[in-house]
Amino acid sequence: MDHLVISPDERQRAHLADLADRYTRRTANSKRLAQRYRRFLADPRAVVGFHSATKELLYPIAARRTRGAVLEDVDGNTYVDITMGHGTLLFGHEPQFLTDAVNAYLADGMRLGPRGEETGQAAELLCEMTGLDRVTFVTSGTEANSGAFRLARAFTGRTVIVTFEGSYHGHFDPVLGRPVPDGAAPRTVPISAGIPDSAVSESLVLTYGDEASLEVIRRHADRVAAVVVEPVPSRHPERQPVEFVRALRELCDRHGIVLMFDEMLTGFRPHPQGAQGVFGVRADLATYGKVIGGGYPIGAIAGRADIMDWIDGGFWQYGDDSAPRDDTIFFAGTYIQHPVSMVAARTVLTWLRDQGPGLQQQLNARTDRFAGTLNDFLAAEEFPLRVQHFGSLFRLVHRGDLELLFKHMILEGVHVWDRRNLFLCTAHTEADVDFVIDAVRNSLSDLRRGGFLPGRAAAVLEPAGECNSRPGNHG
Ligand code: PLP
Repeated sequence: MDHLVISPDERQRAHLADLADRYTRRTANSKRLAQRYRRFLADPRAVVGFHSATKELLYPIAARRTRGAVLEDVDGNTYVDITMGHGTLLFGHEPQFLTDAVNAYLADGMRLGPRGEETGQAAELLCEMTGLDRVTFVTSGTEANSGAFRLARAFTGRTVIVTFEGSYHGHFDPVLGRPVPDGAAPRTVPISAGIPDSAVSESLVLTYGDEASLEVIRRHADRVAAVVVEPVPSRHPERQPVEFVRALRELCDRHGIVLMFDEMLTGFRPHPQGAQGVFGVRADLATYGKVIGGGYPIGAIAGRADIMDWIDGGFWQYGDDSAPRDDTIFFAGTYIQHPVSMVAARTVLTWLRDQGPGLQQQLNARTDRFAGTLNDFLAAEEFPLRVQHFGSLFRLVHRGDLELLFKHMILEGVHVWDRRNLFLCTAHTEADVDFVIDAVRNSLSDLRRGGFLPGRAAAVLEPAGECNSRPGNHG
């Protein structure tokens, strides 16, 4: 945001000082905890957005209680949460049906090691709901994507994985590359220290939605194992290139390439069949996580049986001479099929199946109203921001950073984690949505008064409207 000016003027300095004072008094215990453990805890989440002008405000809110759409911090402040466990909590914090199921299971011990029926039931439900043939469970989205890459490479006997700029697929080396133009042959270089060039040398990062990318894939087709899409990139929820993805489907079919959907955020959220359902395109492999675990750690790879069979050799049965195939990939993990996550997945998937598509439709409609109301306000008041959303995932979009806006929103009683995707869940009521809308309005008006956002051209001629009223809860 324009607010992080190198040399703030007097009005901006006064605003920053007042904000820092109110913010740090209200959330003093969160700040104390961040400082207390920094020497021991290497915490990447606690430094996102570091800037010397605002460093006194840089610490995560620490919570002591959560329920539904609300959390209470260690200072006793309550917030409407729109971070929602980074997109895992489609039903809010501690939905009763899930808490009851997990507690009932744990009453007989965690049972880590042996197999319980919940794993098979979760697999069957996931196949039934996605229409995909087989599934395997892991512990995170990163692990699911990494396993899916190995599967696609084994299945095709090829090495190159195509991804698209602006998408996110986790934190394993091959997806942490960025493209550099190099004539007709684009190259990929690592985005961080600690990643060797060789780790991204078989990754081709192209432009999403661009016809030219189809041509590049065509040119390299005999080396491409998989084309991987985050169908609606969470960092750009306005990008929904259905026709492009349909063209990818055709291209992959023609060249024997695996089309993989990363449904980590889109799975079950906008539609029971995720982005595949919204786009009407079937993936060969799809990866899931987040929502299906209801907040417990999980990842899943689902897909066509002929690809998934590379994990375990495929179907066989007792009493005849059937046997698993020999050619499988290496696939393992101490915590794969973790029983608590499997109970959670079985419970979440059963709930989603029983509620039917109305669950997503209602939540999408609530998010449409939220985004529409805020965008009308932003346009009318000439604030240089937009809300972009896909289903119940949304982002506040601005050409600069939004750090100060988010600090104001926290003061207004909305829990928002900087620079990330934001979510509505089924526990958010219409009143919660109105509360968040008011918080954004009040925060932006405060920032404008503080000289951090341009004035409204017509404002000098008109009296301040409803949007400048301040019903918020500055503590
Ligand atoms: N893919 C997408 C689209 C994601 O949004 C994320 C996480 O935010 C991941 C993969 C990685 O999942 P995880 O953080 O569970 O490893």
